[in-house]
Amino acid sequence: MTEYKIIKNCDIYTPIKIIKNGSILIKGEKIAKVGHINESEIPREIKKYSFKNKLAVPGFIDIHLHGGEGVDILGSTPVSIVKALKAHLKNGTTSLLPTIMTASHQQTLQTIKNLIHIKKKFKDIPEIIGLNLEGPYISKEKCGAQSTKYIRKPSLPEMKEYIEASEKSIKIMTVAPEIDGAINFIHFLTEQKIIPSAGHTNADYSQTEQGIKSGIKLATHLFNAMRGIFHREPGAAGALLLNNEVYTGVVADGIHLHPSILKLITMVKPQEKIILITDATKFYGIKQGASFDQKGKLIGSTKALNASLKNMIKFTGVTFEGILMAVTLNPAKLLNIENKKGQLKKGCDADIVILNKAFGVRTVFFKGENL
Ligand SMILES: [Zn+2]
Repeated sequence: MTEYKIIKNCDIYTPIKIIKNGSILIKGEKIAKVGHINESEIPREIKKYSFKNKLAVPGFIDIHLHGGEGVDILGSTPVSIVKALKAHLKNGTTSLLPTIMTASHQQTLQTIKNLIHIKKKFKDIPEIIGLNLEGPYISKEKCGAQSTKYIRKPSLPEMKEYIEASEKSIKIMTVAPEIDGAINFIHFLTEQKIIPSAGHTNADYSQTEQGIKSGIKLATHLFNAMRGIFHREPGAAGALLLNNEVYTGVVADGIHLHPSILKLITMVKPQEKIILITDATKFYGIKQGASFDQKGKLIGSTKALNASLKNMIKFTGVTFEGILMAVTLNPAKLLNIENKKGQLKKGCDADIVILNKAFGVRTVFFKGENL
């Protein structure tokens, strides 16, 4: 195996800079250099790739997904979960946070254990950079497609058990800030270095503001499954949208949010705080569009992140380089891993997606290996 590789002749979006007709030098699993590289700097033993008229961008980071290829992460065997995660890799997602929906204590615990087992054992799946718990301490009124049966009040003993089983890998957790005990719980999450995210919440504007003051750093999926904006009561959505420090998850499949709402988000939220998520259901990789349950409730999406990028450009008029941050650098910054993921720069993992001019995925490099 050649230790060095070079990707040449493509436009590189780091995403902070655009380098026209540049090169990326890879050494092993890492990026060694990005820019215009002289022949004299290129080792003799090297594998070369040329991607004329293509774009090179950082591997995508998806912080919120529930499955793929017919498999739900919740309640499935490790082998099936691996199949689900692989579907994301070929679409350019090189890092992700498998997301566990509200479930019974036992099922949640078992799913956490399965994911930790996979994280340690399997190398040919996107890197599991953490786990995301979407519940169970959420609002019954705004449960969305989550099971009300298992929605409960925050419990520190239960959460401590999850944290231990996850070997401290839980990075994000959705909480409804208005429920009993939520504010204390948000403080606890912050102490544990878990990002509290507001979602599945019926909180009003002031309750949400209190949640933000207590440590909420993220909106799980802005506008979806939360109290919306009314002109005399701007709701959870209003508080989360208007705060410049809070990151916001956005499902940009064109169905979860009206195109005008996507536009509103880009007009109000600082560009560096928008994070596109798939909220992928088990139908990801099989069908295209949104997924609904038997009662017709939205349960998630099947659109890949590059398709969400295209939607944002089409619906809101943002530039490609502007919105690219929302699947690369922004989630990396939220998780404090921007020196390893989400950027094409020296020292970062060689996770690189090659896109054609229409933003279709041409090929993926994962930790230096071309898939
Ligand atoms: Zn979800």
